[in-house]
Amino acid sequence: MSARDRIREYFEKNIGKVINTREIREVAGINDYARRIRELRDEEGMQIKTHIDRSDLKPGEYLLESLVRLPVIARNVSPQLRMDILERNGFTCQLCGAGAGDRDPWNPNRKIRLHIDHIIPLSQGGLNTKENLRVVCSACNQAKSNIQPPSESARNILIRIRRMPRSVKKEIYEALKRSFSD
Ligand SMILES: [Zn+2]
Repeated sequence: MSARDRIREYFEKNIGKVINTREIREVAGINDYARRIRELRDEEGMQIKTHIDRSDLKPGEYLLESLVRLPVIARNVSPQLRMDILERNGFTCQLCGAGAGDRDPWNPNRKIRLHIDHIIPLSQGGLNTKENLRVVCSACNQAKSNIQPPSESARNILIRIRRMPRSVKKEIYEALKRSFSD
């Protein structure tokens, strides 16, 4: 059993419970457990959350929220291909227009990250070709997996607003704020 297997098993046994680095280091038997956790998240789609994702967690604490796996993004896409796709798509999500570092509209504690997404999933015969790859942000990717789905109409409106100039966004924001002030 590899360190990664042991960490995976430990998380799955302690689903919904806060786990700290001391426990993980003990289970894994290695110091480089952080990389293994990243692999479980990025390569296996495990929903292991940290203080970056949830304000109720402290640094060094982890929590597996659910056994449901998120769709895995960009496996086997080389750094060069990834950069080509990012450049082609203007470093913006092709579903909503968000850029890296924008605030996640569904989770204010989190910033948007950009992923490379397969238009036709690998599991359905899609290929790692430029034609089959696009930039999708972490919020849209999560919505795709139906974990925290925002309503369809809210999403459609947000997509349009995000593509507008900042000054127009601000006008919309101010108008909405006024309409809620009572
Ligand atoms: Zn998006």
